Order: sequence, then C-alpha cells, then structure tokens
Amino acid sequence: MSVTLEEISAALDAAADARPVGRVPVLACRRPAARTREHAFHQWVLSVDGGHLHWTGQTEHGSPVLWFRSVRESVYRLAFRLHHGRAPHGQVRWSCDYQGCVAGEHLTDRVIRAQAAAGARP
Ligand SMILES: [Zn+2]
Repeated sequence: MSVTLEEISAALDAAADARPVGRVPVLACRRPAARTREHAFHQWVLSVDGGHLHWTGQTEHGSPVLWFRSVRESVYRLAFRLHHGRAPHGQVRWSCDYQGCVAGEHLTDRVIRAQAAAGARP
C-alpha cells in the first residue's frame, strides 16, 4: 500500500497542530547542519509504506536535488550510491510503483537493468 502526497501533507499538518502552543513549528525551523551528504539525505526523506522513501526537499524541474557544501547532486544518484556502494552507470530509474521514490533499493542503473534483462532471457 502506498501513501499519497495528500496523506503525507495531512500527517504533517496534524503533527504541526499537535505541537504545544508557543513553540516554533518544525517546518518553519532550519534543520540542523548536516555533517555528511548521507546525513543531509536522511534529513529530507520520509518513509512510506512498502519501503519507499518520499523526498521532501528541493526539486529542480521535478527531480529531487540536494545541495551539500555548495555541491548539487541528483538525489536519485546519491540514493543509488548510498545503497549500492558505487556510482551509478547511465540514467538512474526507479523500479517500484511509487512515483519519485528515492529508496536506494528501488533504484536501478544501466548495469542492473542489463543484468535483469539477461536473467529474464530464456
Ligand atoms: Zn519505492
């Protein structure tokens, strides 16, 4: 089962409403400075049912991007590298049905897709 953007938005609103009066809403706060690119990545993702990760950070032309120490990186490529322990080859695509998922295990590169295609052949 997947969670819709509306459900995530409603959950964030409910969390903001549940906060004691007089405190600064979390969404308006600056996040603590990330020590590493991986730490920065985890500050901007939400876990979604099914093992998916939903990106809540910056996007450019609809694609999630992360700026860390003045260097911009595609979140798909970063998530792939963090999970697989190597840089992706070619375009990174998600293999699950959650649009925009940034869970590393749900991302494929040219090498993984070629291996899957070879394995699928009779
Ligand atoms: Zn996914």
